[in-house]
Amino acid sequence: MKLELINVGVDYNHQAFLRGINLRVEHRSRISLVGPSGSGKSTLLRVIAGIERPAIGKVLIDEIDVTTTPPHLRRVGMVFQDNQLFPHLSVGDNVGYSLRITRRADRTEVIREMLDLVGLSGYERRDVNALSGGEQKRIAVARALAANPSILLLDEPLTGLDEALHDRLLTDLIALFERRGTTVVHVTHDVAEAKRLSSRVIDIAELVS
Ligand code: ADP
Repeated sequence: MKLELINVGVDYNHQAFLRGINLRVEHRSRISLVGPSGSGKSTLLRVIAGIERPAIGKVLIDEIDVTTTPPHLRRVGMVFQDNQLFPHLSVGDNVGYSLRITRRADRTEVIREMLDLVGLSGYERRDVNALSGGEQKRIAVARALAANPSILLLDEPLTGLDEALHDRLLTDLIALFERRGTTVVHVTHDVAEAKRLSSRVIDIAELVS
């Protein structure tokens, strides 16, 4: 099993917010969590990433209990709605950010490979601020995959894009994840997007006991 949440609960302001969350995600599978705004979707992603510590329960990644493991040691990649690219770094340095301590030649090679993967070969030296919205999204995905994460988390990744761009990026992302066998946990309020991306679509209300 790639990911397991076992009886996870989260508190906010010393009060129970989520309780009894159980979830199993198979190796190389894609699941989407759907639900209205405020239902706790991002909270659950943050628990998986290690940014939020659950009040109770366990998080297992690759069968290892990572409940108290800090985010940078979890091998989890994340893509956000607003991308959160580093504006002061070039495209190449954004993509290679997780590989800062890797040998220069290897780092250059991974950056090249990731840019190929997202259809932006040769973009290394470009300014991220000068890219289109779709290109920035591709860079955010390339950066998350560069660290070779065990799981990729997508938090409303395509929300707010115009319909044509949304459709094109979704098609490309699905093809990319299929090719690489990426395990994905995707969060959205767009049920149609969820159904296209994932084999399992779970309403967060069904997870909460
Ligand atoms: P969703 O992603 O489904 O929109 P979130 O997980 O972002 O939902 O948030 C769920 C609820 O928890 C919201 O009401 C939000 O205000 C609250 N919340 C999120 N983070 C915190 C926090 N750090 N402290 C207190 N409340 C929070």
